[in-house]
Amino acid sequence: MTKLDIHQIPVMRDNYVYLLHEADAGLTAALDPAVHEPVLEALKQKGWILTHILNTHHHNDHVGGNLALKEATGCTIVGARIDKHRIPGIDIEVSDGEIYALGGAIANVMEVPGHTKGHIVYWFDASDALFCGDTMFAMGCGRLSEGTAEELWTSLTKLMALPDETRIYCAHEYTQANGTFALSVEPGNKALVSRMKEVDAKRAKGISTVPSLLGEERRTNPFLRPDSSEIQQKIGLRSQDNLSIFTEIRNRKDKFNAINSQYFN
Ligand code: ZN
Ligand code: FE
Repeated sequence: MTKLDIHQIPVMRDNYVYLLHEADAGLTAALDPAVHEPVLEALKQKGWILTHILNTHHHNDHVGGNLALKEATGCTIVGARIDKHRIPGIDIEVSDGEIYALGGAIANVMEVPGHTKGHIVYWFDASDALFCGDTMFAMGCGRLSEGTAEELWTSLTKLMALPDETRIYCAHEYTQANGTFALSVEPGNKALVSRMKEVDAKRAKGISTVPSLLGEERRTNPFLRPDSSEIQQKIGLRSQDNLSIFTEIRNRKDKFNAINSQYFN
């Protein structure tokens, strides 16, 4: 099993595209290429040749570069079988429970509906890397653009079952805004307070806060913490089931976004 060499490319306002390089086989995949030019530039800088595109879901800020990259490089495009009609240029369809091998680097594919119906993630176990698109963010989660809160909660529960040392390669730099909301529902969480200080310091210097570790998300991401008594108290839902509490946290985040119009997810 080969470990991936992972390169992060910040594009557009707050998107991250990743290059996944499998050195033994000489393969390189672009994960959710929102655009093509910065990806081609990064490939040139690295001296890597694009062989694949891996998509998590159909939104344009994830597939926008697909066709131009395919035309420029002849790469093979991998995406969700259930969303094949809206993944531009798709060649290989994958679904829940399948393995996708980028040379010797093995990804477990999981279907995680909620943000969109056909959202999938790629978990490269041996590289401790989860490419989760817009499902889980640092201190946040995706908005419900097609799915239900129940679907997204079930999906997040699947991801929470992965090891603590899993690096969460999400698709957006939303961390600071997410953390501001997180503090509003769990101000007494010391791990959260200290994480936010680190995040603020990094963002002041323009440094990326992604990836984070799943263990860190467990301790600080309010969407993974419906069992926190402080959160339950803050939102006025004591001793209810996790789904009801998660749903209310998601509702509150939507209201928070509406007030702070610079926030999207
Ligand atoms: Zn999206
Ligand atoms: Fe997105």
